[in-house]
Amino acid sequence: MLFAFIAVMLVVGKFVISGAVDDVIEANAERKAGTWASYLVKSVPDLQNLIKSGEPTAAQTAVIDKAVQVADVFRFKLFDEEARVVLISDELDRPLEAGAKTDHNGNALTVLTTGNPVIDLQDGRQKDNRPDLYVEAYVPIVSAAGQPIGVVEVYLDQTPVAALFERNYLYLVGALGLVVLASFGVPFVAYVLKMRQQVRTGEKVRLLSSRDQLTGLHNRATFFHKVKDALDAGDLDLGKAAVIFIDLDKFKTINDTFGHKAGDEFLRHVGNAISRSLTPDDLAARLGGDEFIIISGKRDMPAVERLIEDLREAVSEPVRVDGIALTGHLSIGVHFDPAPGLDLKERMHKADIALYQAKLMGRNTWVRFTPDLEEKIARRQFVEECIVAGFPQNRFEVHYQPLIEQTTLKVVGFEALLRLSDGDGNYIPPAEFVPIAEEAGEIAAIGAWVLDQATRSAVTWPDHLFVSVNLSARQFEEGTLVACVKACLERSGLAPERLELEVTENMLIEQEDKIIHQLNALNALGVSLAMDDFGTGYSSLGYLWKYKFNKLKVDRSFVSSLTGADSKSRHVLDTIISLGHRLDMTVTIEGIETEAQVEALNSLSCDHFQGFYYGVPMPAQELAPFISNTIETARRKGGAHKLRLAEKPEGPARDAG
Ligand code: C2E
Ligand code: CA
Ligand code: CA
Repeated sequence: MLFAFIAVMLVVGKFVISGAVDDVIEANAERKAGTWASYLVKSVPDLQNLIKSGEPTAAQTAVIDKAVQVADVFRFKLFDEEARVVLISDELDRPLEAGAKTDHNGNALTVLTTGNPVIDLQDGRQKDNRPDLYVEAYVPIVSAAGQPIGVVEVYLDQTPVAALFERNYLYLVGALGLVVLASFGVPFVAYVLKMRQQVRTGEKVRLLSSRDQLTGLHNRATFFHKVKDALDAGDLDLGKAAVIFIDLDKFKTINDTFGHKAGDEFLRHVGNAISRSLTPDDLAARLGGDEFIIISGKRDMPAVERLIEDLREAVSEPVRVDGIALTGHLSIGVHFDPAPGLDLKERMHKADIALYQAKLMGRNTWVRFTPDLEEKIARRQFVEECIVAGFPQNRFEVHYQPLIEQTTLKVVGFEALLRLSDGDGNYIPPAEFVPIAEEAGEIAAIGAWVLDQATRSAVTWPDHLFVSVNLSARQFEEGTLVACVKACLERSGLAPERLELEVTENMLIEQEDKIIHQLNALNALGVSLAMDDFGTGYSSLGYLWKYKFNKLKVDRSFVSSLTGADSKSRHVLDTIISLGHRLDMTVTIEGIETEAQVEALNSLSCDHFQGFYYGVPMPAQELAPFISNTIETARRKGGAHKLRLAEKPEGPARDAG
């Protein structure tokens, strides 16, 4: 704005001043020409005669030559008393005929009639032998007796004068600009700065005063301002601070089930609990939704733990909404690390990772960040990506592990075991990706696909072989499992009794009501049901006699402790087998890896064996030797390399259960 003002000043200034400059040049020229003409009159001998004849004598020529070198004069003309040109200074060698040249612009005549000089400013830029700016000054020549005897037209170079004026003009404008700047600009700039400062302060005040409406805590924006201020003022040292991320569990469910009023009530409840727990060295905010943060500046870790426990306790106090008492829980992630290099953002990110872990651990708990968590979470995210890529990139495969009859060593069936390729030649173990797929809500679709694959494979095997498929608790949730199993049987043409479905005790414990009628319906379809991993959970006998399980699969942990000095596991195993038989169930011992285990098991009369010793899980197209031979032959033939792999359970990732 100031520059625009100065620019306007320059243009207007130049316009006004250029007129004045012309006047000054003309006055200057008139004065100079007058002085010079007097000099000419005085110095040229017998000037009157020269005006008459137009032919200078040698003495006169000498004076004229000198005269045209005086000051700014570069040329002159003499007119006689009748305004006829009689002499031109730069054409002395070519004498003029009297009257040959006339007073073309009438200026000489004007001078002769008025007795006053005429000054004519000329632009010489387009003319030969002329300066850029010059003046033609017509001055009367007066005899000693005071009689006008002629006119001299003096050519004066005014370029240096104009340049001088121009320079002076620039100095003037510069000085003027400085004056304007000093008198207007400086106060103006000061004013602008002051206004800007006021706006900023206003914004800051507004921000700092705008708290989260619901909880009265800082909102996200004010929180970051406060933290920055505290850091700048040296009141907060991040290296000594705990960053605590707090998340209200199942907030969405509270909102969806009890309405937004209840949701708000809960947020206020958490906000109050946080507010009450703060000391002047803490900063807390509601970051948005059900997410809160505390930066605790001066507590040690035990004090941070106490703060967290107090918060969890306070929040678990019931909240009354419309007469109903509701209880909430918190998941909390903490980052507390003196590493000085970490900035707030990084610390918050790490606290967030810890919070994520707390949620993965089933919520209503708190986790402190450790570096291995970062890897763990990164791995989890990688597995999630692999699951998403599973179907589009054909990354899922079903492998089959043989089950052997103890007495005949014949293969009786195969367990279908799901595999997920990581796209890099390795398999992600199902124990890792199945729970993640369950949480991501993908397992029902994956499980349906496994059922489809397994039934299609099994129908190609001899009739006496069954296929066993593992089910996930989530597959019971949608209520479509029975229909899915039925469809797979129909699609493949597999006899229902050749399909076995494995469920674990934990699934029954978690959602017995939901599962019970579906198990009955599956039973009615004619498929057989196996209780998997028996002995790892509560091993409640209740589930065994309440449902019609056809099979009991004893967890491999019993086998691994079988060959030790302690004979207890042997007795337990013996008891489980008897129990199974008493309840009309076939008993499978899982996880047989060594010859020694086989020998130890020989004195126990179970039904089926399964384990790396007999065969590892393998793709459908590699099952042939196991299908057409006894297990011994299979071991000697195609399956031999599998068994070698099996003897080293820590071997290739794909088969390490
Ligand atoms: P599971 O149902 O107990 O399956 C048997 C697991 O033991 C398999 O691990 C198998 O490879 C492993 N295994 C077999 N013999 C031995 C042995 O001699 N020694 C040792 N150390 N391990 C042996 P895998 O394939 O990694 O599967 C792990 C678990 O993942 C399964 O345990 C099952 O709970 C689950 N799973 C596998 N496939 C599916 C599926 O299609 N759907 C569902 N929902 N879960 C599945
Ligand atoms: Ca199983
Ligand atoms: Ca099992």
